[in-house]
Amino acid sequence: MKISAITVWRKELPLKKPYRLSGGRLRFDALDATFVRLEADNGITGWGEATPWGHTYLPAHGPGVRAGIETLAPAVLGLDPCRIELVERAMDLCLPGHLYAKAPIDMACWDIVGQAFGRPVADLLGGCHPDPTPIASSISTGTPEDMLGLIEEYRKLGYRVHSAKVGADADLDIERIRFLEMHRRPGERILYDANRAWTRREALLVMNAVADLGITVEQPCETLDDIAAIRPLTRCAISVDERLETLQDMIRIAGDGLAEVVNIKLNRCGGLTKSRRIRDLALAHGIQCYVMATGGTALADAEAVHLAQSIPAEHRLATWCCQDMLAADVTEGSGIRHDDGCLVVTGAPGLGITPDLAKLGEPVAQYGSQNTGRPRNLS
Ligand code: MG
Repeated sequence: MKISAITVWRKELPLKKPYRLSGGRLRFDALDATFVRLEADNGITGWGEATPWGHTYLPAHGPGVRAGIETLAPAVLGLDPCRIELVERAMDLCLPGHLYAKAPIDMACWDIVGQAFGRPVADLLGGCHPDPTPIASSISTGTPEDMLGLIEEYRKLGYRVHSAKVGADADLDIERIRFLEMHRRPGERILYDANRAWTRREALLVMNAVADLGITVEQPCETLDDIAAIRPLTRCAISVDERLETLQDMIRIAGDGLAEVVNIKLNRCGGLTKSRRIRDLALAHGIQCYVMATGGTALADAEAVHLAQSIPAEHRLATWCCQDMLAADVTEGSGIRHDDGCLVVTGAPGLGITPDLAKLGEPVAQYGSQNTGRPRNLS
């Protein structure tokens, strides 16, 4: 089997409501999504998606995904998608770094392999555990009462895990956390996500003021060095999100005992091939995992759920359902959908989802063809 063509679409995905992160310092109204279809010479097609959460959250942006794919395409065309680590190596040699641009190609390869073998991707990743994966809501920063109001909305949909965004004024963050914990229901879990916003002093101020509550704080400071500095000075459990990009990062997090939890974001980490190694290292060190997309449609959510479902339930904390936050759906009628606060892998082969071509519109680039095998860029 060989990859014979790569087609790329751009789609703007409006959010249902504006979203504020880290005390309001980052605001989003719409996401710039890239969809990638890989065609194999036996007729199987696989899909990938790369939807950065705006361009201010991570060092990734929509135009960068498409520019990266333009560079990567000649190295990928003609390769066997079943030999995924050979595809990975070809991409790494062709374009060092830029993991977020490689992720949708990697994702589409896994989709093709799953279809070729008639198994869901979660089975290819080691085996699909049967328990559904809880979804974490994403609670925009606001007053304590506003944030509780958003949690109430998600409760009505069945959500029992919430990621509440803090990370601005330290005194107000203490107030937010104490208020939300006071109103947390039995069986609910709230992750307090600072998204790198605190200085080391602010992080210690907040985390030590609420240490009696037994909470987990995600990405309290900017770097792993910052987290290493505060780790011995607080009793709060720590989750690393934005600063987990590579296997080397995971080795440091596990070896130096920087965190009890990690959040594996597939697009940031370069896709399933690289993220499964991070998963294995986390499990080997008793580190629990959130597994999420950086954003996007049911296609991006599906990729995350397939990896999440390959993790035993006791190590798997939650995934995300970004599709619930979008005002547009390009995958309507197929895929993995929210069910009582959980997502669960279906038995469909591959990722089990196909975007609606009519909703994607015209592609912005196409590389390779069955006639010539030569790259062709439509943009
Ligand atoms: Mg986070």
